[in-house]
Amino acid sequence: MPYTEGKGWHDLTIQPYRNFSLDPAAMVLHYGQAIFEGMKAYRGKDGGIYLFRPADNIERMNISAARLCMPQLPVDEVLVALKELLRLDEDWIPTAKGATLYIRPTMIATEAALGVRPAKQYLFFVILSPVGAYYPEGFNPVKIYVTDKYVRAVPGGVGHIKTAGNYAASIMAAVEAQQAGFTQVLWLDAVERRYIEEVGTMNIFFVIGDEIVTPPLGGSILPGITRDSVIQVAKGWGLNVVERRITIDEVLAAQENGSLKEIFGTGTAAVISPVGSLHYKGQDCLINNGETGALSQRLFDEIQAIQYGAKEDPYGWVIRV
Ligand code: PMP
Repeated sequence: MPYTEGKGWHDLTIQPYRNFSLDPAAMVLHYGQAIFEGMKAYRGKDGGIYLFRPADNIERMNISAARLCMPQLPVDEVLVALKELLRLDEDWIPTAKGATLYIRPTMIATEAALGVRPAKQYLFFVILSPVGAYYPEGFNPVKIYVTDKYVRAVPGGVGHIKTAGNYAASIMAAVEAQQAGFTQVLWLDAVERRYIEEVGTMNIFFVIGDEIVTPPLGGSILPGITRDSVIQVAKGWGLNVVERRITIDEVLAAQENGSLKEIFGTGTAAVISPVGSLHYKGQDCLINNGETGALSQRLFDEIQAIQYGAKEDPYGWVIRV
């Protein structure tokens, strides 16, 4: 669906997957006005197609758009079109256990112009891709590398939005972590390099004593939809969830004194990703003996059951397409 200044969004169509052309001067290629979202469609036990909190994804995309001076999307119209697309492409939604259809809404600046300013033309498109089960053989706790060399976001920057440049800037840290044998990077704050922010493409939670601690949304981490879902489910179970700043030293001290019970990441891809070990300043720290914690498992089972329409959804999160 193209956008033209003065005309707004127009000519919404559903088309077979294909290449499209861009002018070499398209502003996205030079000045990086590119935003996207990631969500999934699930094939329920009853054969139905389920979407999990899709309006929240489109609303988050509008926050990204506003920050980069890109146009707002009409949320209701996009949701109607998305449901239509899923109905047309129904056979693409996998039936294998744990498999899903990944949905990637994207917006880019297409106007051909040199000079840094908001573009006057954009393209919004949605691509779909079937993905296999994230955990085909059960949980696989991740090994995390804490970087104090690189930062992902700075105060006043764009860390809270889903823009392509954030991911480009994170690749080098991820490559170095992988070369050292780790699965994900844990980012610290840019100012003091002590406060924990988030992991790779996930938000992060620490179970310390009787608290479940997660860094607050302060402008430099992505407001994860899974993060918010975990907070609501855990609070609904009467658990003590605290959104507060937490340093890497506090986590390591809690590990030393035995009060750190588990760590897990949250995100659309994995839902819950247990953390098996942390590596910081040359030292390795095993979390929960490298095993999946009980709360990680319980949250995963609960949220997956809601996503697949297998369990009552008291939150109104799930939409049957
Ligand atoms: N942080 C970052 C940087 C991410 O890319 C993602 C994945 N969208 C998340 C956190 C988790 O967000 P969500 O739960 O909405 O997938």
